[in-house]
Amino acid sequence: AKDGGGGRHCQFEPILHASAEERRKLELSLRGALERHEMELQFQPVVDAKSENIVSFEALVRWHSPEHGFVSPAKFIPVAEDTRLIVPIGRWVLRKACEEALAWPEHIKVNVNVSPEQLLDPDFTDDVVRSLSETGLHPQRLEIEVTESIFLRDASVARSALEQIMALGCGVALDDFGTGYSSLGYIRKLRFSTIKIDRTFVKGAEQQSAESLAIIRAVVAMAQSLDMTTTAEGVETIEEAELIRALGCDKIQGYYFGRPMSASDALKLFSQADRQ
Ligand code: C2E
Ligand code: CA
Ligand code: CA
Ligand code: CA
Repeated sequence: AKDGGGGRHCQFEPILHASAEERRKLELSLRGALERHEMELQFQPVVDAKSENIVSFEALVRWHSPEHGFVSPAKFIPVAEDTRLIVPIGRWVLRKACEEALAWPEHIKVNVNVSPEQLLDPDFTDDVVRSLSETGLHPQRLEIEVTESIFLRDASVARSALEQIMALGCGVALDDFGTGYSSLGYIRKLRFSTIKIDRTFVKGAEQQSAESLAIIRAVVAMAQSLDMTTTAEGVETIEEAELIRALGCDKIQGYYFGRPMSASDALKLFSQADRQ
């Protein structure tokens, strides 16, 4: 895949078609990527649906590889998960996200994605405690994001890790809700702070079938009665934003309100607001 074209077309290759050879090359480069400072965090705003004020930022990891160029997380996170490199990478993400959040106004939270391998690592809770105590970030300002896939492998270990995180005062969001494995049983047992409704439900919401809208409405109603909040993901247009707001979602995230940006650009949003 790496020829005179600099392997640029790799970026557009679907994950499933990444050859074993290509994955091996990615893995080799991924080892040592942290030490070589090739990883960076970007931050995407999450806004309150009614006021449109920023309430949080989601930390999204970026990898600039000298060999492969920019590699999207959709491509390298699965490789990092298979090789357990996600454990040190995820630890770095967590720590860095807490450090950046400390510079924001106190009411702004930070959302950090956590892979199943990372959550199931015996050191995970200690890592969270250390990131909070060493940076001084208040636990309530951290919300970790997990997908339903955490319950597929070792559900009881996953559940107990999440309970420990919640006991620290951190929030736990259920990411990509509605895609794949259904976890209504775990929603009953675990007090998630937020349910993130996947973009597949949001996309073209104003043209969606009555059934899709009924599903969003039902998820919002369920979340409200369980004292959880909802975030609609991937809102790209004003039409989607208005419909999502009308359906009662609490928070909105998507290109319409802001793309992932550098930590310094995120910080600038607050200094500009202060000057007005
Ligand atoms: P995710 O957690 O569901 O993150 C949301 C993804 O949707 C991000 O892609 C974001 O840039 C993108 N997005 C946001 N708004 C819009 C929109 O309006 N339209 C569209 N089409 N997309 C939007 P990104 O940054 O490429 O990340 C992809 C996935 O990689 C994430 O999905 C998450 O599963 C994973 N990921 C990213 N950073 C981390 C990390 O630090 N740790 C772990 N474990 N996974 C990560
Ligand atoms: Ca996420
Ligand atoms: Ca998501
Ligand atoms: Ca996702």
